[in-house]
Amino acid sequence: MITDVDKGFLNMALDEAKLALQDNTYPVGAVLVDEEFNVIATGRNRVHPNKDVSAHAEIEAIRNAGEVVFDAKIHNKKFTLYSSLEPCPMCTGGILFAKIQRVVWLLNDDKGFGGFLKMKDAAIFEEKFNRIEVIAEPDEELKMKQIELMDQWEKNANHVGNLRKVVLADI
Ligand SMILES: [Zn+2]
Repeated sequence: MITDVDKGFLNMALDEAKLALQDNTYPVGAVLVDEEFNVIATGRNRVHPNKDVSAHAEIEAIRNAGEVVFDAKIHNKKFTLYSSLEPCPMCTGGILFAKIQRVVWLLNDDKGFGGFLKMKDAAIFEEKFNRIEVIAEPDEELKMKQIELMDQWEKNANHVGNLRKVVLADI
């Protein structure tokens, strides 16, 4: 279950995803909050503007949080990471390394690069995953908004599928 506070942060993640789409990149946004629900950092996908394949929203939020995340890991503080989409394998790895204890996302990504649930189900790093409270797809209305953003992304010239078509047309 999520609270109105959670919903507010999911809306913030969605706003970041919208900004990413305006930057012509994959619409994913993330927000990292501490135990008292203060915003520590936000992040959004910047793969295309930065030409950096590792510039994912969740990694950016963790990076933007700086040493606060390291401190939380040492002191076992319960941070929550909100994302508009299920974290990919790389971001899931980042979440495990940061020892983030609660993860909430708007839309599962089993057709795309969603990694969190696959890695958790595979029972690898089981002990680490068991420490994380996971809340997937808690809000239908906000989930639909993320789906809309991703539908728009499909038509974007920077979508990798569309970029490949241009490469093929050049041959
Ligand atoms: Zn990722």
